[in-house]
Formats: sequence, structure tokens, C-alpha cells
Amino acid sequence: MSVPLLELRGVTRRYKMPRAALLRAPAVLTAVNDISLTLVRGQTLGVVGESGSGKSTLARMIMAFEAPDEGTVLFEGTDLNRLGAAALRRARQRFQMVFQDPFGSLDPRRTVGWSIAEPLRVTRAPDIGRRVSEALDQVGLRAADAEKYPHEFSGGQRQRIAIARAIVTRPELLVADEAVSALDVSVQAQILNLLMDLQEELGLAMVFISHDLAVVACICDQMLVMRHGDSLEFGETEEVVANPRHEYTRTLLTASDI
Ligand code: ADP
Ligand code: MG
Repeated sequence: MSVPLLELRGVTRRYKMPRAALLRAPAVLTAVNDISLTLVRGQTLGVVGESGSGKSTLARMIMAFEAPDEGTVLFEGTDLNRLGAAALRRARQRFQMVFQDPFGSLDPRRTVGWSIAEPLRVTRAPDIGRRVSEALDQVGLRAADAEKYPHEFSGGQRQRIAIARAIVTRPELLVADEAVSALDVSVQAQILNLLMDLQEELGLAMVFISHDLAVVACICDQMLVMRHGDSLEFGETEEVVANPRHEYTRTLLTASDI
């Protein structure tokens, strides 16, 4: 059997809350509780849950921005949290993230081309200019846009730029955390289509995070439903939609009219 591209084994993350009183131990919040899942190459996993259910915390652990308190995150069988700094930098080329707010990854004082090239400079990749042009083309922008600044673009175009920055390293996994949530509805559909096209063309695996179950059910092969840090459902989308194990999922399904 081949090794899955991404595997989470019993991943848990806890945060200490501010002390309520001087002599009382600080309360602990379990943001992600014992989550296990696997994702194979080229497949899309949707993560759905209301605000505060632990989706972004899970994303940060998949990206190795944060280590779990318990459990392991394996990328192609390698525990990311056991890699040294140089090896992790190299491994990072293979998984990239798109955030809700593209301003987070675009420096307003730098040209768009500079920001897109940033993940490549880490490893001193050759042909940086050519690869930036290629990435802009892949997201439906023009090579000449590399010379412009973020404020010269609309919200949807800025999200295209953020996606170009994420695919410029030719990753195998893309994590999109509420990547369309801040956009107008008509623009959301365009960006979703772009993500789906790229996923197919580049054979990307994708973790698509959204509070919108209808969108996840429509575009994802598998889905994980989270609530208060717990995994309520994990499986093939069709199976989860047809046979939800949890009352909460049934409520979500009814509410989103699937
Ligand atoms: P979601 O993305 O589903 O909205 P998050 O992962 O952002 O959920 O948050 C899950 C829970 O963990 C929330 O209660 C949130 O307040 C808490 N949380 C997230 N990050 C931190 C942090 N760095 N420190 C303390 N609490 C956090
Ligand atoms: Mg979030």
C-alpha cells in the first residue's frame, strides 16, 4: 500500500486561557481534540464546522506552523515536527496555504511579483522570473501584473495573486482556509472554479476549509465535520451526506439544503 500524502494521527492542540484568578490554575481549551485522517494525492478534503470549531488550528498544524501537543502530522510518511530547520524549509515547498485575507501574504510595499517569488527565494530556485510569470498565467492574470502593487487589484484578483504565490513552488498539497469567505458571492464562484481547475491540472491534493457545508459537499471528495475541536464525521462526502452519524451533521445538512 502506498503512503498517503497527508496523515494525521490523534492530533490534539490545547491552549492555556488567561488566568481567571491569581492562585487558580489557568483553564485549558482543547482547540483540536484527537483528530485522525488521511488524504491521498490529488484528492480534496473539505473541513467544515462553525466558527471556533478548530479548523484554522488544524490547518496551522498541517502546515507545521504549530506543533500538536499530542499526535503526529505525517507528510508522505515523514513527521514534520521532527525535521530540522533546513529540512522543514525544503519540505515547505511541497505544501502551501491560502488564507482568507490575501493581504496577510502580500506586502503592500512590494510588487506582486516580489511577493509571489518569496517562497522560491527561500531555496534559491533558478528561473524565478519565469516561474512567477507562469504562476500568474495559471491563475488567470498577466505576466505584466508582476510589476504592479496589491492595491491596484480587486479583492478577487488579490486572492488570485495569493493563489499564484501558493502554487509557484509547485506544491503537492494546498491548504485553503476560508479562502473565498471574504469575497462577494459572484467572485467566490470564480475563485472556487479556479481552485478546482488548478487542483485537476496540477494534480494537487487540497484541504479546503469552510464554514459552508454546501460548498464543501459540492467540491470535495472527502469531508471532516468538526465541532468544539472534535471530529464528528470523516469519510467520503457522498457517504457522510447520505448517512450522517451525528445529529449535528444532520442539522447542518438540513440548513444548507443538500
Ligand atoms: P475556527 O478556524 O474553526 O474558527 P480556530 O481554530 O480559530 O477555529 O479556534 C478554535 C478555538 O481555539 C477557539 O475557541 C479559539 O478561540 C481558540 N484559539 C485559537 N487559536 C488560539 C491561540 N493562539 N491561543 C488561544 N486560543 C486560541
Ligand atoms: Mg478559522
